[in-house]
Parts: sequence; structure tokens; C-alpha cells
Amino acid sequence: MKTETIAIHAGNHIDGSSRAVIQPIVMSTTFERGVDGDFPGGHIYSRSSNPNRSLLENVIAQLEGGVDAASFSSGNAAGMAIFQSLKPGTHIICPDDMYHGLRNQLKNLFAGILTFDFIDVNDSEVLQQHIKPETGVIWIETPSNPLLKITDIKKVVGIAKAKGLKVVVDNTFATPICQQPLALGADIVMHSATKYFGGHSDLMGGALITAEKSDWWAKIRQVQEMGGAIPSPTDCFWLVRSIKTLPYRVKGHVYNAQLLAEFLEYHPKVERVLYPGLASHPQHEIAKDQMLAFGGMLSFIVKGDENDTHNIINKLKIFTRATSLGGVESLIEHRATVEGPDTKTPRNLLRVSVGLEHIDDLIEDLEQALNG
Ligand SMILES: *Cc1c(COP(=O)(O)O)cnc(C)c1O
Repeated sequence: MKTETIAIHAGNHIDGSSRAVIQPIVMSTTFERGVDGDFPGGHIYSRSSNPNRSLLENVIAQLEGGVDAASFSSGNAAGMAIFQSLKPGTHIICPDDMYHGLRNQLKNLFAGILTFDFIDVNDSEVLQQHIKPETGVIWIETPSNPLLKITDIKKVVGIAKAKGLKVVVDNTFATPICQQPLALGADIVMHSATKYFGGHSDLMGGALITAEKSDWWAKIRQVQEMGGAIPSPTDCFWLVRSIKTLPYRVKGHVYNAQLLAEFLEYHPKVERVLYPGLASHPQHEIAKDQMLAFGGMLSFIVKGDENDTHNIINKLKIFTRATSLGGVESLIEHRATVEGPDTKTPRNLLRVSVGLEHIDDLIEDLEQALNG
């Protein structure tokens, strides 16, 4: 089945008793046992599993081409489940521009438990140099945030496999519609479902998807069940509902992002546009090779200083000044001030989550703000 079909059918189940076409929200925290003590409904207690969560995990696993998925209450909770599943002392190699929330989580919550290096994962020589006997995982985030750098997944997987290491890919920016890391050899894919999966900036969630049911995966399931950072049945219901339109929403985001990137690239007030779909992107060829489409996120560097940059976003009427991404509405963000004092993000960089408004309106709005 193709992703458009999976998205609509793999998270749905016609209810056995009411014949409701859409799976109802099962709020019950507990499930009746049979006379012989078993669990005929397949569920025991909602922290362990719930009908809405099972359907969500099924559709997400199938979309990423995995054998199983575990869902969480946020993307950070999903990332944390990976870190908590590793033996104390394990070394992780992370990208130098890893999503700042997870970088901060490692530095603040896992210092003294795990060790980690933040490096340019795409530089094979640097990567090889940082592999130690206690290294367990290489973390990839591509396209990266907010510089839209591309990491060659197959190349990193090749290096990792030769040393018996696992590869985790944060696929939040790309979504399975634009990139399928498990098919490129990755072991686990991570998502912030808060972004494109939810797609309407109104719920938080996270997910992990695995290529195989390993002992490591069993440990991750334990972290999910015993740690309890699970999404509610209602959140699972809304996620399943939103995922039905994910393939078509992403096609719209990609279409608008490409045209917006091309408009910005030739604008005299813009120094540079960072979008993997532009031939000028330094890793455009890798992106073409490993991505099915180039995604809905772009960044651009304004000709001028931080003040000029703020002046531009303050004139925008359709784009909303806010963090986050993946919603139907376009958001624009001065990334350096969000990431805090240790950020390496240029002070004149703006990150755009290109929404599903008409592209002519988006271009017109940016045009008036840049020229104003
Ligand atoms: C938002 C985000 C996360 C964290 O997800 P939350 O749902 O906010 O916890 C992780 N990785 C990337 C790339 C993100 O954009």
C-alpha cells in the first residue's frame, strides 16, 4: 500500500459493537478480564496499552515502513525513552546542530549517566574519530534545525554498521512522506508528532518506530510502559485523525516551500536561503538522492543585522511570529533568541514553517515586509 492509503486506513478500525466507522475514543483506564483471568479485549490497563494508542502506533509504524512503533506524550519524551533505554556509560554521537531541546535534555538530565559528543556527523573522518569502545548510538537529524543541513543517512549507516552501532534518525522535519530512514538502513526513527503529524498546532506527541523487534526495542517498550510518558486516548484519536491528511498536507507544504524559497533566493534584501530543494543548497544532491520531497521548512539569512531582521518579521501580516512548525498556518521565527545564549545560529537568520495558505498571499506578505 502507498502512504496515502496507509494514512487513511492503518489507524482506523470499525468498532465491533456499534459498527461506528471511526474508532471511538476509549477513555476507560482498565479492561475487564475473562472468567479464566485472561484479557479478551487485548488490553489490561491504559498505561500499558489502549485501543486508540494501538491504532496510532499501527499507522505510524506502517507509514515509516517499520515493524512497530511506540507513542509518547511529546517528542522529547520519545527522545528521552531512547536515552533511558541505554546502559549507563553508553556514549552517543550527536549532530552539532541537534534539536536544542534534546541537546539540553542530554546535557542537563543525562550528564554523569551517558556520555556524548556533538559533532559534524556528516564528516566521515570526524565521525570515525569520535567512535569509542563504549559508543552505542549515532544520532542523525536531517534536514537539521534551523540550518537545514543534510546528513547522508546511508553513509552514516555504513560507518555505524561496520562498528556494530545503532542509528537513530529524528525525522520530524521530513516526515515519512519526504524521507524514510528505515529503508536507508536506520534502526529507529524518532518523531515529534506535535509538528506535521498533528499538523494543526493544537496537540503534543512523540513517536519511535523500529526496523526490528530487538532486545533494545523491548527495553524501549519498558521505558514507555513503566515510565508512563504516554499520550492520552484523546490525543491519540486526534493524531490518527490528522495523520489521514498528512500525505496531502505535506505535498502542499513542499509545494509552497519550494516556491517561497525560489522567491526569497532572488530578493535583494536576502543574503542566503537554506532549503534542500534549491540547487544552491550545498547538499542538494544528497537531498535529491535520499529524500522523496524536500519538506516544508526553510531558513533565510537577511542582509542586515538582528534589528533589521526583527523589523522584517514585525511587518508580516499572514506569518505568525512563533516557534514550532508543521501546522497549516505559516510561522516565522527568530531562532537565535529562542535557542538561548549558547546558540550558534546567525542573529540575522529567520526560520519559516511554510503553511498551506495560498502561495501568492505568502509571497506578497514577505515582499511587503522585506521592501517596507
Ligand atoms: C519539536 C521537535 C522535537 C521535540 O518535540 P516536542 O514534541 O516539542 O517535545 C524534537 N526534534 C525536532 C526536530 C523538533 O522539531
